[in-house]
Amino acid sequence: MNEEDKNKIKAYSKQTPLYLSRRKFDSEGALVEVQCLGCKKFKPLEAYSKNKIQIDGIEIKCKQCKQSK
Ligand SMILES: [Zn+2]
Repeated sequence: MNEEDKNKIKAYSKQTPLYLSRRKFDSEGALVEVQCLGCKKFKPLEAYSKNKIQIDGIEIKCKQCKQSK
């Protein structure tokens, strides 16, 4: 994750506490896990497809939930 992405997430987190509550960061502030809106589980970024509409470029639901729609 590059500096630009980190700053984007920081700025967005201030405006949207909900966004922050659905994400886990490592000690350097890099995004490591995201909570899926489908199964409510925290999963690593690899478990999600890309979605450019979302703020950090990943889907709000994990691949598993997307498939079982
Ligand atoms: Zn899920």
